[in-house]
Amino acid sequence: MTQELHTLGVAELAALLDAREVSSVELTRHLLARVAAHDALGAFLAVDEEVALAQAAAADLWRDRGIHGAGHRLLGVPIAHKDIFVTRDFPSTAGSKMLEGYRSPFDATVVSRLAAAGAVTLGKLNCDEFAMGGSNENSAWRPARNPWDPARIPGGSSGGSAVAVAARLVPAATGTDTGGSVRQPASLTGITGIKPTYGRCSRYGMIAFASSLDQAGPMARSALDCAHLLQAMSGFDPRDATSAEQPVPDFVAETTALRPGATPERPLAGLRIGLPAEFFGEGVSAGVLSAVRAALARLEQLGATLVEVSLPRTELSIPVYYIIAPAEASSNLSRYDGVRYGHRARVYQDLESMYRASRSEGFGAEVKRRIMIGTYVLSHGYYDAYYLQAQKLRRMIADDFQAAFAQCDLMAGPVAPTVARPIGSQHDPVAEYLADIFTLPASLAGLPGLSVPAGFGEDGMPVGLQLIGNYWQEGALLHAGHALQQVTDWHRQAPPL
Ligand code: GLN
Repeated sequence: MTQELHTLGVAELAALLDAREVSSVELTRHLLARVAAHDALGAFLAVDEEVALAQAAAADLWRDRGIHGAGHRLLGVPIAHKDIFVTRDFPSTAGSKMLEGYRSPFDATVVSRLAAAGAVTLGKLNCDEFAMGGSNENSAWRPARNPWDPARIPGGSSGGSAVAVAARLVPAATGTDTGGSVRQPASLTGITGIKPTYGRCSRYGMIAFASSLDQAGPMARSALDCAHLLQAMSGFDPRDATSAEQPVPDFVAETTALRPGATPERPLAGLRIGLPAEFFGEGVSAGVLSAVRAALARLEQLGATLVEVSLPRTELSIPVYYIIAPAEASSNLSRYDGVRYGHRARVYQDLESMYRASRSEGFGAEVKRRIMIGTYVLSHGYYDAYYLQAQKLRRMIADDFQAAFAQCDLMAGPVAPTVARPIGSQHDPVAEYLADIFTLPASLAGLPGLSVPAGFGEDGMPVGLQLIGNYWQEGALLHAGHALQQVTDWHRQAPPL
């Protein structure tokens, strides 16, 4: 029995725990041993057996006393958090030397909500420094490795989360997505991940990158498991001024319930899926394209209708995002001054040189690049030419989505133009930015996006299908993803470890 525990998902483990077929302590021990055995994948930055086992013992006690209910659906289920979320019980570094050894005096809201739902935390997961990147190579600590081929990137910035879930070290993990960081690593490692509507999950305690874009999201092996986590993670938080006072539906029910006009054989009957022409053009690899088309064919068999739509400013989302995100980052990262917390240089002459030395030593190359770009586009004389223009285009990109949603209920396309590349094979930052083309539009518009496994492309590496919904339509995305996962087994494929 314990031999297979790691192959089970969130809902299955919760059922086993409820049936007392396994205790949370046994399950936690089993997964901690797996985490240790696969340390070379670089998924985790911090693990604390004592903390995890104490949480697991507490969960077992709660269950024994019969004091858990509907709000504690994750009671005793082990998960792990991207190191962008601050935590009291574990160090929080954001993948940066700047925060080496930093301990937060409080938990992020997403972390405390998952704990309140009963989840047990095994540790903190690797990521690109301050979530800037799409490969995990920007982690100051170590790269994370794709379990399908450890010589390749797992994607990023939530790379450690994707690796941990894909390698069956944890059934689910948290990630964050500013311009694709939940969806793209999910796609490159063959797991499921959803970036909710901006404002759905609290950003309180999420180390800020670009505040108008940052969103937390769950990563798991199925759409249904993502629904279980999202349920706990969502909801208004007075501590985040941009958190929305939007009712949280029953995501699990929305994921599984039959919709009006649908039948069990054709659960997606009546659903119009728009295919943005710009998502199927040049630049998408043949393997990715054929996997995505095969997944779309399955959605059609499930009753969905495919319609062609257009998002004419898709290409512009790259310059727009790479102006707005660095602009916000340059402001957010000004707090790392070596005074209040974080790294401080040992050698300096005066205050000014202390700032300079601390920031030069603490930040990595990509973070410095973005601080410089951001400072430049916000500077007097350039603000109107870059930042203001980008804000106007951002609005137009959001309007394009609304025009397209007049013709469809969801949109679909690839998540990333290619499968995962080898670690160390990309030295051109602009080329790396271009690969974000399919995830940036929904981010700029604040729309929810789901990545679900769609089989395999070049060299047998995983490919993800992206589904984009209108505001607050996470349930509809998860429903379509779940329907697909009822008739396909791409999401059940495990990497050969
Ligand atoms: N790859 C994008 C970037 O480098 C997105 C990162 C993210 O979503 N955090 O900014």
